[in-house]
Amino acid sequence: MSMPRGIAILGSTGSIGRSTLAVIALHPEAFKVSVLGAFNSWQAIVEQAQAFHPHTVVLVDAEAAARARAALRDCGSATLVESGEQALADAVSADNVAIVMAAIVGAAGLQSTLAGVRAGKRVLLANKEALVMTGRLLMDEVRRAGAQLIPIDSEHNAIFQCMPGGYLPGDAAGGVTRVILTASGGPFRTTEAARLPHVTPNEACAHPKWKMGRKISVDSATLMNKGLEVIEATLLFGLAETQVDVVVHPQSVVHSLVEYADGSMLAQLGAPDMRTPIAQALAWPGRMASGVQSLDLVAVARLEFEPPDHLRFPSLGLARAAARAGGTAPTLLNAANEVAVQAFLERRLNFVGIATVIDKVLQRLDSSPVKALGDVLDADAAARRLAVSLIELSVGAFA
Ligand code: NAD
Ligand code: MG
Repeated sequence: MSMPRGIAILGSTGSIGRSTLAVIALHPEAFKVSVLGAFNSWQAIVEQAQAFHPHTVVLVDAEAAARARAALRDCGSATLVESGEQALADAVSADNVAIVMAAIVGAAGLQSTLAGVRAGKRVLLANKEALVMTGRLLMDEVRRAGAQLIPIDSEHNAIFQCMPGGYLPGDAAGGVTRVILTASGGPFRTTEAARLPHVTPNEACAHPKWKMGRKISVDSATLMNKGLEVIEATLLFGLAETQVDVVVHPQSVVHSLVEYADGSMLAQLGAPDMRTPIAQALAWPGRMASGVQSLDLVAVARLEFEPPDHLRFPSLGLARAAARAGGTAPTLLNAANEVAVQAFLERRLNFVGIATVIDKVLQRLDSSPVKALGDVLDADAAARRLAVSLIELSVGAFA
């Protein structure tokens, strides 16, 4: 029997992180948790460390790391506790890690995701923002380092599963004419336009089909999540923006489709549960149990498809425009969205204000070519500064 493969879980205390640990717990002979990383949720990570005995725990926040260190020492644990972003990147690159689950939310995950790629690991990519903001730069690093980038986002994982045998993201997709991303439509799929300025963060986070972190839940409600996913798909699968279609599919059973030159359409179906793509990516090219119940098609009964409504949900169009503009446009879009979503969650901006802020940032800041990581970081910072000031200036108008 072969040795268990070491895994680093970045964002282990989040929704994807916890689902990953649930899958790994089913296969102790195949995987060993080497690294757990998160921002400051020290109690949760201490519990995880007691259950999975990682070599290293990293909490980016120093004070939280000190608390976790004391708690683990008190119970006689041998786990090392580190703090800071650099410690996270170092832990991911270490020899005891073969697989990296990149599941930190937002641009905060970029450095550690990049570290996993540069170290040539198998990187399971949930952190779509890291890819959207860096664009081809990240895909170039994947190729250079000989890393394997496997999508965890359910749509992209579905597409990956429908690609020809042996296909890996970054390769040209032979015979593929387009892909179709499905979208649940989010909690406001049938909400009247006039009510959207008044919806609350809790309403936005009450997703009908998926239980997720608050940032991606708001993105699903605005359809920006689908916009980020369009950009993600162009990069992973080497497609033009016009080759990535979106259909709203309220049942969330068909996770996405690939269309081939001969007219064949291949789809991946399953219950809406992230443990399925997580298990697929961990076991690839094999298969293993995920703990997900099998899907009862008769109970589902109907599969519906409708076009997205660009009038009520302008964010999808903004993301498509950024994909076409290229360069730093997706970086600007992502940064403005992160700032606007945070302001919405803190009730400093209303729901429709999110798209307004992103639109203004994209109008005022020109996209420029991306030659090095510095170009990405500069654009990200400029978009954040502008978004913050736009939100401050318009508090009365939005709140
Ligand atoms: P979440 O909010 O539940 O968890 C986020 C995790 O990131 C936590 O462990 C948190 O401690 C960590 N984190 C946050 N800021 C950090 C920082 N500055 N430094 C280090 N760690 C930090 O989020 P989630 O729903 O699990 O989503 C994680 C990522 O996966 C996102 O990029 C999201 O778009 C993507 N994703 C999630 C789902 C889902 O079903 N939840 C589906 C597809 C893609
Ligand atoms: Mg998705």
